[in-house]
Amino acid sequence: MKNFDGFDLHCVLNRSLARMKYTIPTPIQAKAIPVALKGRDILGSAQTGTGKTAAFAIPLVEALLNDERKCALVMTPTRELGKQIMEIMHKLIGRNSGIKTAFLIGGEPMSKQYAQLRHRPRLIVGTPGRINDHVERRNLPLDQIHFLVLDETDRMLDMGFSIQIDKIVKHIPNDLQTLLFSATMPKNIIKMADKYQNNPKRIAIGSSINVAENIDQKIVKLNQEKKYDVLMKELASRQGSVIIFVKTKRNADKLARKLKCDDYHADAIHGDLKQNRREKVIKAYRSKAFRILVATDVISRGLDVPHVAHVINYDLPQVPEDYIHRIGRTARAGAKGASLCLITPQDGRKWHAIEQMLYPRKHGTKQKFLR
Ligand code: AMP
Repeated sequence: MKNFDGFDLHCVLNRSLARMKYTIPTPIQAKAIPVALKGRDILGSAQTGTGKTAAFAIPLVEALLNDERKCALVMTPTRELGKQIMEIMHKLIGRNSGIKTAFLIGGEPMSKQYAQLRHRPRLIVGTPGRINDHVERRNLPLDQIHFLVLDETDRMLDMGFSIQIDKIVKHIPNDLQTLLFSATMPKNIIKMADKYQNNPKRIAIGSSINVAENIDQKIVKLNQEKKYDVLMKELASRQGSVIIFVKTKRNADKLARKLKCDDYHADAIHGDLKQNRREKVIKAYRSKAFRILVATDVISRGLDVPHVAHVINYDLPQVPEDYIHRIGRTARAGAKGASLCLITPQDGRKWHAIEQMLYPRKHGTKQKFLR
């Protein structure tokens, strides 16, 4: 598919896409959109930053525009991802189509969400915990849902949401189109797809464990006590916005404070911060109000800030896959990016697992793009 015209979309969508300056579909969009427009289920995997959101958002909005009785539900693991999805949906829906939405995430007052639900929203985006809360309180009828998206499903399962997802899906009628996306496809996801989907079309863009080619990866092997000095040197030699990933919430705050003492504009984000604080930090980072975001894995998936130039793994992630997700915060939408990984002797096992995941066959030989 050369451009979006070939999809024969509703005129509202065509206008929105033009406003958003989306002219050529990304590979995942070119594969997924025609299949979804035909009403088929999709079991999809794609690298981060590939345009996955619009790959499901465009057919979803098309379905809502074409049939006023249809409603859609999108479930996503984190509030931040949910917010990004909601923003894209609003851009696609446009101002005048009259489609009401509700955004149901934890950490926000129920009252605000009740108000949205009273207006009979046709599109609901949220996290499974809060959506299920509303279903159990009978605030959220699901009998009109005809379109379901499960985004970053592996992460939702890792976060223990499978029970809530199950409870929610039970309330949805059988006449349902389901698009399930997951960065990795372990057995439990395939099982879930068997349970919820009807002969889904399997769509994969690249390997789900590929690192984007435009990321220049560097590793430094060092002792724990040298980490901060090396970080200082690396920050001084690099230009542009940086995300530094650390293991614990406490260390995120501590490192951000330390960087501020060293005259760097830095702030921290982690799961202990209140939702409005998290949003303020992301908004400020997005608008370049500060340069360095120190984070836990709460933002390792999906965060889409185009100007992130460097991702630094100050601590290695607990699960190897999160390495891919973390460094996927840079080099968004075709841009170039760089990553740095600080590895101590105590990290031996974790780094070994990451290397095995990245280079299953070549493992053991020196990789040419790791310098
Ligand atoms: P995603 O993988 O959904 O987070 O998208 C990554 C980035 O690509 C976002 O900044 C999108 O706005 C952008 N994007 C997605 N699809 C297109 C497209 N067809 N043309 C231009 N930019 C796009």
